[in-house]
Amino acid sequence: MEELLRRSEKLTTVGQLAAGVAHEIRNPLTTLRGFLQMQQRTKSINQMHTDIMLSELDRINLIVSEFLILAKPQAVQFEVRDVRFTLGDVISLLDSEAHLHNIEFQPHFSSSPVLVHCEENQLKQVFINILKNAMEAMPAGGTIRLQLAEESGAAIIRVTDEGEGISKERLEKLGEPFYTNKEKGTGLGLMVTQRIIEGHRGSMRIESELGKGTCVTIILPSTEARSDTDEDGKQSLA
Ligand code: ADP
Ligand code: MG
Repeated sequence: MEELLRRSEKLTTVGQLAAGVAHEIRNPLTTLRGFLQMQQRTKSINQMHTDIMLSELDRINLIVSEFLILAKPQAVQFEVRDVRFTLGDVISLLDSEAHLHNIEFQPHFSSSPVLVHCEENQLKQVFINILKNAMEAMPAGGTIRLQLAEESGAAIIRVTDEGEGISKERLEKLGEPFYTNKEKGTGLGLMVTQRIIEGHRGSMRIESELGKGTCVTIILPSTEARSDTDEDGKQSLA
């Protein structure tokens, strides 16, 4: 059971995306307005109402933050990086949260450098999104395997979890904005991930079996070490 998220196939136009964001933000705004109106009329807001209002505000904030990653207007700086360190940094960042949930990261990294021409912060965002999804799929804990190797001009990064897995029907919907099965999810992570990978001329493949786990493979063109100021030095996310 697998689904290849192909280049541009599932990309939504800016207009559709904007409409989607507007819709997703309007729902929590409606809730917030309702409670404020109730307060104005009857002064009857209680703790439960303010809790809901706070979580609705958090939701708006999350949606906007995920979108900003796509919308960043400034030119991004592409540099040559050893993915072992980039992925290593992200593992350190998420390690304590993983431990809290009885999740163990199991890295299997190439012993030699795996160099890619990348915007490192964006690449970190990709790894954060993928690892968070893996962690969120394993509420009872388990192992997340991280393989990293260089093979004939490509950096191959593979993240395998032991989580709930994804059904065939859901697999087909992945990468569509706002598709989520999580109460606090935005359904934007994979779309952002896919766009960043495309900006790096790479590809992503997701294989999954319900009840067994999911394997995400990211392939990026690898490079020889070279200066950061070549003609490709500055690119922006299209
Ligand atoms: P979010 O995490 O906010 O729901 P994403 O775009 O990151 O949004 O993921 C969309 C959906 O894809 C998730 O809600 C989940 O249903 C599914 N998914 C992604 N990664 C995994 C995984 N590793 N295991 C199981 N389901 C996953
Ligand atoms: Mg996610």
